[in-house]
Amino acid sequence: MTDHSFIQVRTLHRHFQMGTEIVHALDGVDVAIEQGDFMGIVGPSGSGKSTLLYLIGGLDQPTSGEIWVDGTDIAALDENGLAQYRQKSIGFIFQSFNLIPTMTALQNVEFPMLFARVSPSERTARATKLLEMVGLGDRIHHKPTELSGGQQQRVSIARSLVNNPAIVLADEPTGNLDSKSGGEVINILQRLNREEQRTIIMVTHDQSLLAATTRHIQILDGRILADVRGSYEQAN
Ligand code: ADP
Ligand code: MG
Repeated sequence: MTDHSFIQVRTLHRHFQMGTEIVHALDGVDVAIEQGDFMGIVGPSGSGKSTLLYLIGGLDQPTSGEIWVDGTDIAALDENGLAQYRQKSIGFIFQSFNLIPTMTALQNVEFPMLFARVSPSERTARATKLLEMVGLGDRIHHKPTELSGGQQQRVSIARSLVNNPAIVLADEPTGNLDSKSGGEVINILQRLNREEQRTIIMVTHDQSLLAATTRHIQILDGRILADVRGSYEQAN
């Protein structure tokens, strides 16, 4: 490493072979992200936003390039190394919540700890505390179908935090929510950033949400068009 950014993405390419065509989902991305950034990623559908997020989260591997996170190039890790990296360092929040429908809110939040060697009583204590933190202390025994969309997304935020990740990645976290529930989700993400110093990277279509971020990048056709400090309002 030649500098000391927390996350340093270098000349990142992700190509997909589709029949005889090659799709350049990422076409040479360079970006540095500091600890404590709340970074938005905006751009039209198909521009490569999710691909970049998944690569930083170790859910996918690049065609070429480097992804340095806290001193390790995760692009060079094997499947085992990536699994450890995800468990230790990353929380994921998806647009569609991805909760397990047969499990209660509490069981959903406990679930990732099953693989992290946490004792059952500690699992329950930690999951309960996180569900209280997202305002669902009175809903811990409800199943996803018994919760609103906004409540389900707050369960998924609690789940993303159980292994105490330094980095939280959110892919259109308010995309399936009304504006009030979406606002609550953004407020929680902002709290995680400001009060707990977690690094947050959030893909969004909604320019108004950028007011909650500390910076954002714009992506088009797999390339970064702009890297903007401060909120959207300030930038424009
Ligand atoms: P965004 O999140 O900005 O909408 P994506 O990162 O999902 O865009 O996709 C970027 C481009 O890569 C799109 O053209 C998409 O069709 C393509 N792509 C993404 N994932 C795959 C895949 N697994 N196989 C083939 N093409 C893919
Ligand atoms: Mg996407």
